[in-house]
Amino acid sequence: MKEQSAELAVVSNKTFEASTAVNLHHYDISSALQTTLEFDELIGIFCNKIQATIPHNGVEYNHPLFNMHYQRGVMARHSCSYVLKVEEQELGELKLTRTQRFGREELKMLESLLCCLIYPLRNATLFQQALRMAYTDPLTKTNNRAAFNDSLQREVKRAVRHGQHLSLVFVDIDHFKNINDQYGHACGDLALASVAAWLRDSVRGSDAVYRFGGEEFVILLADTDIDGAGIIAERLRADIESHTLAYGMDVLNLTASLGVATLQGDDSAELLVKRADKAMYAAKQRGRNRVELAA
Ligand code: GH3
Ligand code: MG
Ligand code: MG
Repeated sequence: MKEQSAELAVVSNKTFEASTAVNLHHYDISSALQTTLEFDELIGIFCNKIQATIPHNGVEYNHPLFNMHYQRGVMARHSCSYVLKVEEQELGELKLTRTQRFGREELKMLESLLCCLIYPLRNATLFQQALRMAYTDPLTKTNNRAAFNDSLQREVKRAVRHGQHLSLVFVDIDHFKNINDQYGHACGDLALASVAAWLRDSVRGSDAVYRFGGEEFVILLADTDIDGAGIIAERLRADIESHTLAYGMDVLNLTASLGVATLQGDDSAELLVKRADKAMYAAKQRGRNRVELAA
């Protein structure tokens, strides 16, 4: 039987301070929780610390704002769960399970210990939100250049370590300046956001698309060789060409030129970008609205 479900643990500063002041156990947990801003680590530390006081077999934590799902141990018959929230800030839902029922005193103790978790979870939530904003381009809602630089370094290292392919597609919208000149900057902005959305819809996992700058996007394709990336690039090209954009009474058609490169030998991350950019430039020179593969 489910003991408690979706209980609201709204904890005030006062409660938090009062409980830490009187209880060394609370102090110990609070100190340990100050060491990280990662959700899974916070939940792991919290559950380890309370295991002796409130024995449990399994834990589940969901934070829908971040598509976060954490599970540890075995899910058992009895459970207690709390929707955590402080000052209107959603902090996710924590569920403990075990084979025996949770007693009333245990639940009281757990609720008191949750005071220690609330503020570290809020700090982690604010931090992760800030991180997300710092890595997102506000106009197109895609990952920005800073996110690309980080991901590229990480993916290159990973590809080298595992001996896997890594490909990069460079997308540059054709004659984009004409759109601004003819229909205005607001229309240009709408076109950029639309192309970004089409690209995101077209590739597996929206994380792969980055705004490189201006009217240029890059797509990182892990574990994909040049032929595979070429097929994806051709699909993206056709996709952009097939869409129409309605702007007031006007209907606009866009095309893009794409360059594809794959990590080779001891390529650096910078060289990979350079080769894809060069291939894109070749596509421009050969008439635009086409895909070129790097040599
Ligand atoms: P090409 O086919 O050779 O790529 O021609 P192009 O006109 O697309 O390339 P060019 O580099 O000459 O122009 C890019 C234009 O993109 C110029 C710039 O004003 C516009 N642009 C860059 N960023 C933004 C933006 O955030 N919003 C809008 N509306 N326009 C932008
Ligand atoms: Mg350009
Ligand atoms: Mg362009």
